[in-house]
Formats: sequence, C-alpha cells, structure tokens
Amino acid sequence: MARRQRLIVGNWKMHKTVPEATGFVERLADLLPKSPPANVTIVVAPPFTALPAVSAAIRSHPLMLGAQDVHWEDQGAFTGEISALMLKDLGCRYVIIGHSERRRYFGETDATVGKKVATALRHRLRPILCIGETWDQRTGGQTEKVLTAQLSESLSAVEKDQASEAVIAYEPIWAIGSGHPATPEQAHQAHRHIRTKLIALWGQDAGEKVPILYGGSVTPDNIAELLAKPEIDGALVGGACLDPVQFAKIMIVACSPP
Ligand code: PEP
Repeated sequence: MARRQRLIVGNWKMHKTVPEATGFVERLADLLPKSPPANVTIVVAPPFTALPAVSAAIRSHPLMLGAQDVHWEDQGAFTGEISALMLKDLGCRYVIIGHSERRRYFGETDATVGKKVATALRHRLRPILCIGETWDQRTGGQTEKVLTAQLSESLSAVEKDQASEAVIAYEPIWAIGSGHPATPEQAHQAHRHIRTKLIALWGQDAGEKVPILYGGSVTPDNIAELLAKPEIDGALVGGACLDPVQFAKIMIVACSPP
C-alpha cells in the first residue's frame, strides 16, 4: 500500500479579521518550505469572513483552502448558514465537519454531521470529519465504542467510491486546547481502531486510503513523535496554527523525510 498523503490543517476557529488573515498568509508563506514534497498538503481554514481574501492570498503559495463548517442543503431558508456551493465558489477544497466545539455549543449530532459529510462529498469538497471521546468516556473504557458509534452514523451515507476523498480527524475532546495532547501511543491505538472500522465499512483498499489526522494540543515540540506513528497521517492544529512561526515549524517537521 502506497503511503497516504500527509495532511496538516490549521483551524483558525473564530480568529483573525481580514487584514490579520492576509498578513498571516504573507508571513507564513515566507517561512514555509518553498516547494513542499508532493505528498504533503497544507490547509488553512479561516473563518467564513476571511475566505475570499485568504483564497486570493494563497494563490501563489503551496496552501489549500478549507472552511470550518457547511450546511447540508444547497440553498434555502437557513438564516446564517453557508452551503457547499458557496464554499466552492470561494475556492475551498476542504471543510471541517463535526468539530467538538460545534457539537458542544451548537448542538450538532452524528446525524447532522453525517448529512454534512454526504453533502460535502457530493460537491467534491473533502470533509474532515472530527470525532473523539471525552475524558470521562476514556477513563470509563468507552473510547472505542464512542468512536465506532460516531463513525457509523456520520459515514452511513458515504459510498465506497467516495471514501478516498474523506478525511478523519481523531480529536480527543480532553486534549483540545488543554496543553495535554494524547500520547503518540494513545493516538496510535485510536487511529488503529478507526482504520479497522473504515476497512470494515468500505473494504481493505478504500479503507486504507483515508487519511486519519490527530488533533489536540499539537505543537512544534510534539508533532515529530506523533507523525512517527504509522497510522498518524497528519494533524489538525488549533492554537498553534494562529502563530505563523509555530505553524511553519510544524510544517517544516511534516515536510521532512521520515
Ligand atoms: C482543535 O480545536 O481542533 C484543536 C486541535 O485545537 P488545539 O490544537 O488548540 O488543541
């Protein structure tokens, strides 16, 4: 099996005005390797308001554009929502779906997340499906059960021939923004479980193609040991992606040969 694509995604969350966003991209572009290896993809996911400006700013740089959410309908009376067609208009290729903050603060469920994943794939946007357990679920020995349930419901509408476009982000909720990342071994175990489920769902070939990212307090200091695990195909980065120097350092590690 050929090595999967390595993917590093920066989730800006609700940070950066338009001038801040364009200044950030210019600074980041100066710090990044000029021609990253072909197997490394770097994605920035700014807030909706900065997507047009960032889309223009990254045109001459090796960066891809992602959004932080999408609605499952193409259009209609859904005040405040953004559709996949609108994201495509702005040059998005990726979209983060089901982040734990959306589940916690905005009531997203595996059912709504599943509809969003199906819509993204239908429009050829690559969904980055976020799943992960709480600390209580982990200490209660429920991690694998929780991941299985999240995957089954969120991926139930995805056909095998669409599978290679999907991306999974394993984000233990207790590790997000806490400064306490999962150990590489904890992440590796969870990724192995996810891989087994993907293979059960779509078969060996299709299940092996899906990149599985780790997210939760990733920094320049821990990215190398995480990426050293064979089942960790990349990272979804929150806090550390807001500073161009930190994000570039993560990128430089990701672009180094194993
Ligand atoms: C996230 O919110 O997806 C995330 C991984 O955040 P942080 O890197 O700050 O833990």
